[in-house]
Amino acid sequence: MLKAYKYRIYPNQEQKELLSRIFGQVRFVYNLGLETKISAYTGNKKHLNVFDLNKQITQLKKYECDWLKESPSQALQMSMSNLDNAYTNFFRGAGFPKFKSKYRKQSFQLPQGVFLSENKKQVWIPKLKFTDIDLHREFKGEIKTVTVSKSVTNKYYISILVDNKKELPKKQPIKLNTTVGVDLGIKDFAITSDGKKFENQDFFKSSMKKLRVQQRSLSRKQKGSTHYNQQKLKVSLIHEHIKNQREDYLHKISKYLVDNYDTICIENLGVSNMMKNHKLSRAIGDMGWFKFKSMIDYKCEWYGKNLSVIGRFDPSSKTCSNCGSINKELTLKDREWTCKSCGTEHDRDINAALNIRNFGLRNQPSVTQSEWLHCACGVETTNL
Ligand SMILES: [Zn+2]
Repeated sequence: MLKAYKYRIYPNQEQKELLSRIFGQVRFVYNLGLETKISAYTGNKKHLNVFDLNKQITQLKKYECDWLKESPSQALQMSMSNLDNAYTNFFRGAGFPKFKSKYRKQSFQLPQGVFLSENKKQVWIPKLKFTDIDLHREFKGEIKTVTVSKSVTNKYYISILVDNKKELPKKQPIKLNTTVGVDLGIKDFAITSDGKKFENQDFFKSSMKKLRVQQRSLSRKQKGSTHYNQQKLKVSLIHEHIKNQREDYLHKISKYLVDNYDTICIENLGVSNMMKNHKLSRAIGDMGWFKFKSMIDYKCEWYGKNLSVIGRFDPSSKTCSNCGSINKELTLKDREWTCKSCGTEHDRDINAALNIRNFGLRNQPSVTQSEWLHCACGVETTNL
């Protein structure tokens, strides 16, 4: 099974300068590859594959751009494979590959060639040689890929993906009483079908406030000036802090879910749905849902749990989770309501989470009719 580890590294001045050149060269090759692919296609409708592009790198190194030799050649090749993958994803419906900019996070990848010093205080990176590393926990297994990166706040990291050759645990059976539905809300961050609420933490609010203050100050400074750049770094540091806070929180919740349930049902909040969905809280915001889903996803794999992602269905909060009838009069401000058909009293969010659970299980042959009948909410499959 694959596992990723991320460590902070501390290159010296000379290594920092070399890293900056390598980042630039890898980016140069990527952008050149993208340009070549586009012009080959618009010119004579020819698709260049990764071999064609790698041949081009070899030519470049020999003749025009011998300075590319400073970069590990595998890093340049990986950059071409990444471009190739970006194209494959594009044909599968993702966005068209973008040119890389030096103002974003910088990184390059290697397939191997990385190892630790004997005292484990340093890591060997091709061309860079030994660099100090903060090895907070050891990685074990066969190295698959290594990513060296620099954040916009000037911190350096190495991420190591390993295959530890362990088999994934067997999946737990899908049962009604060990399944949870999770609704993502605005008042609370997430609500489970058995009533556990994860609140929107105050630290998000105070970080967002800080961010607004610093952004306002940035907008008053002259672009490109020393003060502007200093202020920009300040803003980036707050962004980084918020991102870390958010990730920590998402880790906590996803861990809680896999620890306490065997099957987890969540709604699919794909990009187009996200635009329509105004209720999503700031804590999850932006692309946070994808991160949350991927955390639950791999934790489920690690611990042998199940994940069921259901399509978004509009009446989720208006449907009675007990009898299935729809309350058309329900408005956004009604936090509690009573079903006119069966008389059940609902908390709006818990009811939505119950619906998500029920939808997630509706076609599960392992959940029997009698389980549905005996469940606390008395849901019958026929009503779903
Ligand atoms: Zn009802």
